[in-house]
Amino acid sequence: MFSIVKHPARTLHQPCDDVTQFGDSLHALAEEMNKTMISSNGIGLAAPQIGKNIKFVIVKVGDEGSEYAAYVNPVITFHSAKKVSIEEGCLSLPGLYGYVTRAAKIRVKYQNVRGEKKIEKLTGMPAIILQHEIDHINSKLIIDCDIHITKGEKILRS
Ligand SMILES: [Zn+2]
Repeated sequence: MFSIVKHPARTLHQPCDDVTQFGDSLHALAEEMNKTMISSNGIGLAAPQIGKNIKFVIVKVGDEGSEYAAYVNPVITFHSAKKVSIEEGCLSLPGLYGYVTRAAKIRVKYQNVRGEKKIEKLTGMPAIILQHEIDHINSKLIIDCDIHITKGEKILRS
């Protein structure tokens, strides 16, 4: 299990390198990040949040259980004109919540932990979470977005 790096730690604000090593070690990292995410009640986690400046993120899948999806070197290749916003929080910014405007639909190009190239279309919560996580690997936090700060009635941290 990792501890979560909090703002203003340097790794959150530094560029991330491409992942070039795939396979067992990357899968093990994903599993360990998933444990960290679950124990923190998170719904997404990016490698810079555990102190690693690499382009690697995970997103929780489903409401129950411990299933997750891993995205290696993800790049958003399409943002819909339609926008949505939900109240977001961030494990690296404890106690801060707010509405961030995101694309309702995205298309993402990425690799899986085995290095296979994938393209996926996402809508709804997974699209929002993945945009939050991809911001992390681009050194961007919700405080760097156009955010409408709230009191955090609903807690969705990633
Ligand atoms: Zn975050």
